[in-house]
Amino acid sequence: MRPVRSGYVAAMPRAAVAATGEWTDPDGFRMPSGVVHAWRQGTNQTLCSLPLSRTGLHRFPHVEWVDVQPATGRDADRVQEVCPRCASAMGRRRDERPWTRRNPRGATTRGR
Ligand SMILES: [Zn+2]
Repeated sequence: MRPVRSGYVAAMPRAAVAATGEWTDPDGFRMPSGVVHAWRQGTNQTLCSLPLSRTGLHRFPHVEWVDVQPATGRDADRVQEVCPRCASAMGRRRDERPWTRRNPRGATTRGR
């Protein structure tokens, strides 16, 4: 039994999944396995800039990124690794160093 799509962690932005492998679950859904990357539909590369065509990654437009997170996702059974770069691109906001403003507007040398 699979719950219908609901109860997602709302904090995470949505993305689909690209993975190095695939398998078919007992319900007949194609599911990602191996290393998973985040992928936005309509683009031809992962969030960490791997070109899908050249790397031979499988696309899973019907699987959401949140579902393949081993800690929380329901479709993570065969996921061996989550790409850390995609993970941070998808919003591990906490561990990121704070964004620093280097050149605030108006601070440029003006006038001579
Ligand atoms: Zn990635």
